[in-house]
Amino acid sequence: MCKGLVNRILPFSSVDGPGNRTVIFLQGCNFNCLYCHNPETIGKCRACGKCVSLCPYDTLSIVAGQVKWHEEGCKYCDRCLEICTENSSPRPVKMTVDEVAEKILAFKSFISGITISGGECTLQCGFITSLFKRVKEIGLTTFLDTNGSIALWQESELISLMDMAMVDLKSYDPKEHRVLTCMDNEVVIENIKYLAKVNKLYEVRTVIVPETLNNYYNVDMISKLIVSLNSSIRYKLIRYRPKGVRLELIDSYIPRDEMMNELVKLAAGNGCENVIVV
Ligand code: SF4
Ligand code: SF4
Repeated sequence: MCKGLVNRILPFSSVDGPGNRTVIFLQGCNFNCLYCHNPETIGKCRACGKCVSLCPYDTLSIVAGQVKWHEEGCKYCDRCLEICTENSSPRPVKMTVDEVAEKILAFKSFISGITISGGECTLQCGFITSLFKRVKEIGLTTFLDTNGSIALWQESELISLMDMAMVDLKSYDPKEHRVLTCMDNEVVIENIKYLAKVNKLYEVRTVIVPETLNNYYNVDMISKLIVSLNSSIRYKLIRYRPKGVRLELIDSYIPRDEMMNELVKLAAGNGCENVIVV
């Protein structure tokens, strides 16, 4: 049976798509963004055992060459995350669609749908497709939160089961995108065009990072791209925040209101009808 590697399940969120949603964070990402604020979701545990002996609450053990996390005793002190040099965590668990669906059913009366996030969730397309099928049977909406790096136009079953997607376009400049994420942005832009065409693009997001990225150029070009597709698609500008970031990789600060207002003005001036700042 198809299993997903799940980092964690957040029962309720009001910032990961419309309404109140359960968010399922999958483990593993093909980007390695300089400003990633949850870098422990990037890698996969290779069972080196370092965190096992250092867990102050003895909630980790090695069983059959794999790290086993004993959730009931975990105090979420995050010592294991600080120690891990693989951008991973001992806490992700392999779950079947039925196991995830059981959790979702417990929250069903309080949510309008689910959002699959990451890491990069589309690296586990088979699992997501099966889960979306199940969530549709339950009667909830299905959203994807993605870095847009996997060619979604080739995932017809997934797209037919998905209500909408939120896509990050971290930089419009291919060179800057590569420096920031380690990957090209060509597929990301194609995905944005494709999702807009099939009316499944809920929002495009860009993180604003002062003195590190070419923020004004990015917002100018990305807002023009959105307007060329459908000017009512939401463009979310996200302030860089240093919390959880690997500060040895990036030296920046939270952008001031003045800068964010200028960027909103720039996008709106290009014709974007729905620009928000978070
Ligand atoms: S989570 Fe990291 S430190 Fe712990 S066993 Fe896995 S690879 Fe090693
Ligand atoms: S967060 Fe990690 S180190 Fe802390 S108790 Fe849980 S498993 Fe152990």
